[in-house]
Amino acid sequence: MKPLRVILSNIHLSLREYFLLATGLIFVSMSHLIYPWLIKIMADSASKPLPFDISIELFISVLVGAFFVSSVISYLCDNLLFKQGLLLRNNMRVRLYSALLFQPIYRTRQLKIGELSARCSEDIGRIHTLIPDIVAPLFKNSVYSVGCLYLMFSIHVQATLVVMLIGVLGAPVLFFFGRRTQYLASSAQSDHSLSNALFEESLVAIREIKSFVREALEVKRYSVQQDKAMQKELLAIGYSQRFNQIIYILVTGLLLATFYVTTHQMSVVSWTVGDGLAFYMYAYTLAMSLLASSKLVFSLKKVLGPLESVWELIETGERDIEYPQKGKEQIELKGTIEFRDVDFGYGQTLVIRNCSFKICAGEWVVIRGPSGSGKSTLAQLMIGLYHARSGQILIDGDPIERLDIAGLRKQVGYVGQEPLLFHGTLRENICLSDWAYSEERLSSVIEIAGLDEMIPELPDGLKTIVGERGYTLSGGQKSRIAIARAIMIDPPVLILDEANSMLETSLERQLWDRLSSDRRHKTTIIISHHTENIIDYDRLVTMETGIALYA
Ligand code: ADP
Repeated sequence: MKPLRVILSNIHLSLREYFLLATGLIFVSMSHLIYPWLIKIMADSASKPLPFDISIELFISVLVGAFFVSSVISYLCDNLLFKQGLLLRNNMRVRLYSALLFQPIYRTRQLKIGELSARCSEDIGRIHTLIPDIVAPLFKNSVYSVGCLYLMFSIHVQATLVVMLIGVLGAPVLFFFGRRTQYLASSAQSDHSLSNALFEESLVAIREIKSFVREALEVKRYSVQQDKAMQKELLAIGYSQRFNQIIYILVTGLLLATFYVTTHQMSVVSWTVGDGLAFYMYAYTLAMSLLASSKLVFSLKKVLGPLESVWELIETGERDIEYPQKGKEQIELKGTIEFRDVDFGYGQTLVIRNCSFKICAGEWVVIRGPSGSGKSTLAQLMIGLYHARSGQILIDGDPIERLDIAGLRKQVGYVGQEPLLFHGTLRENICLSDWAYSEERLSSVIEIAGLDEMIPELPDGLKTIVGERGYTLSGGQKSRIAIARAIMIDPPVLILDEANSMLETSLERQLWDRLSSDRRHKTTIIISHHTENIIDYDRLVTMETGIALYA
């Protein structure tokens, strides 16, 4: 079972704690097994001498001491269990987040973000109960059951075997209902996550929803999804109820069988009253702990079931980049980029076909062409977000796949078509790179990007918080912040993908003016529909549905 494997792989992180926990729980469970034995001693005390050589007062004092130690250990175990539960939850969330951020971009694009955030917050959120509320009680019950069986065997072997037979009959029932519940819980949770994705998508695209008057339709879609999940939840509850009934019948059978065996043994064989009472009480404890364990297995399935797909994401292990990449060449980027007969497609159809061109270090290059002709794709191939299907992409003369891609990306300033701002201050958004920067560079970058007039007007200047996804700013302002962010480290290569599309003519001209004096001899690639305002460039690459017409 995948989830269990991933959870077990976490145990090695806190081996010492888990060892202490196991020892503590064994001690606590064992200490509870003594009660039926005490009753046996008490019942037999009239006819038999006490089975120990010390006085009854001393014996009780030892017991009081042992139970005091047991309750302290139990308290410490509870604290440690809750801590381990929370640690496991956090660790799983970080692992999922890391798996998502490090996976190749084409995989991320196939995912529904709302669904994933639901999985991360709800499904993984529930996992903190797993250790204290499910695994630890299951472990205690197992110790309990083994202890009970051992003591029952020590009273009478055959009678214990008869009782065990009835318990074994319950195993297939447990297995069948457990699997079914896990499946239903998992699929109901998928439906809930999907409805969460709808919820998030609709709120993000609220303008589109309103302009197409889709409010009622979206509410209906959401409600249908919720209903689907509810049907599966109802089925799962039905299974759980039937399961409880069957387990109840089995436990009752077990207790009646024990009653029969005990009374029979007491009348036929020479069992003492103490033997009979102790045997019955151990069998009763065994039955109750089996009943509790079966319910716990059910809860285990309910918690782990919805996590199957999350583990798949964590476990697929496909990683885009590692830092640093082993066996890859580190480069100090100069800025030459060459495409040689490059073919590329997102799916079956090629988006870039037999594409060849060369950009020399220090050149200003404009890439233009109709929408959908593959301009942005070229940019993403240049920074290794996607890999060419055939042909070669050379960076400073080296094939891109031989280079340390993280090192390369750190030296490229990139502004994508829909620049996103992170929730944080304006300063944090501009100084996003982990490279050191000076206040002088920050001021000059603000000026180049044309933010020098806007920032003083903001309530807190550079400390102004820009909202989630930058909603508090206009499209043009967001583009300018994204440009400032990209040029902050004065990168040897700058790629601006439609960064001018939201700028009015005067601001755009000012941007090219200021940018050209800042980066006159640094490779600058401007991807744009409208190039009439860019006057000073060295080379033009015109794209026509995947083919570069090189100038
Ligand atoms: P341009 O930047 O010239 O507008 P793009 O490079 O964005 O063109 O897109 C080129 C083609 O690739 C288009 O047909 C577009 O639909 C397709 N495309 C772009 N991104 C993806 C993607 N992530 N998955 C599938 N197809 C894509």
